[in-house]
Amino acid sequence: MKITRIECVPYTIPYRHPIVAASGTLDGAEHVLIRVHTDEGLVGVSEAVVRSFVYGESQASIVEAVRLWFEPALIGADPFAVEENRARVAWIIANNTVHGAIDIALHDLRGKATGMPCWRLLGGTGQSMRVSHLLTGEPDEAGEEAAEVARSQGLTAFKIKTGGDVREDIARVAAVRKAVGDHAFIFVDSNHGWTAEQAIRALTVMADYGVELVEEPSPASDLIGRQRLARQIPVTVMADESASTIADAARELATGSARALSIKTTRTGFTDSAKLVALAEALGARALIGSQADGMIGAAAGLAFGSAFPSVAREPGELDFYTILSDQLVVDQLVVKDGRLTPSTKPGIGVQIDDDKLRHYRIDTK
Ligand code: MG
Repeated sequence: MKITRIECVPYTIPYRHPIVAASGTLDGAEHVLIRVHTDEGLVGVSEAVVRSFVYGESQASIVEAVRLWFEPALIGADPFAVEENRARVAWIIANNTVHGAIDIALHDLRGKATGMPCWRLLGGTGQSMRVSHLLTGEPDEAGEEAAEVARSQGLTAFKIKTGGDVREDIARVAAVRKAVGDHAFIFVDSNHGWTAEQAIRALTVMADYGVELVEEPSPASDLIGRQRLARQIPVTVMADESASTIADAARELATGSARALSIKTTRTGFTDSAKLVALAEALGARALIGSQADGMIGAAAGLAFGSAFPSVAREPGELDFYTILSDQLVVDQLVVKDGRLTPSTKPGIGVQIDDDKLRHYRIDTK
């Protein structure tokens, strides 16, 4: 089997409500569907997501990067040659979500060619994963939403956006803890928004509310401040954007700036994400599946991957961001049951694209 073409379809699906983080505001899903075609007629599928204020990509830049660099490098390649294919495109710097999406589409192809789900190809058993739900907004709203999803979907893990006004951030954490009880897993993500000193102050208090982890508490560029706060606070620091490559992750863990990694298959695909899991295990760090504002295609991929690694599958994964999208492109919908998602037993990442929906949301033919 050989790769013959890589197709890109940019599409936009509005959110139900905007998502406000310290790093920027998102109003809708601006994604690019990636389809890797082969001479045997099988097609590998995934999605690249635009996060302009994290990676500097756009729908147009993703399409152009595939056309100019990724497609020419991979035409004629064997989708099963995982490491060789990764090496073929490793020279293309940045373009994080293109790298991730193409690697996932190639794994999806391997699954379709063998009739196996990706979690099985990666060595897993298809176990379910606990889902963590993202909370933003005013403290009262965050608390009410947490209580609602805990009641309706059995969710027991929550990630709260912080990194703004410390007092309001603490109030948001307090409201969520009150709403979901003592046993729920709570972590926060400040998207580099606090200074190191603010982070120390905030997290010293938040530790009393049982906050387990803090993602990117302060600017990663302030290496000394980051190391100081990691030593002083009783909450584990998790690297996200500051560990978007294997080398960056090694630096964050080895320098003591972080003791956990957010693994986003959207940016590191399955091939590099597996190496990040190994790195975390080797250095005694935790690894959690993160979301890059993924739709259901990205969630299915993150779930298939996370489920395959016991050290990752025992942690909650950010797998329900898709609920913020007003619609989905896939035919078989993921459904959270008792706070957990079970990966599809269908081949590859287990998604089938709804052609009518794609026609409706694609932006390249309008
Ligand atoms: Mg984050």
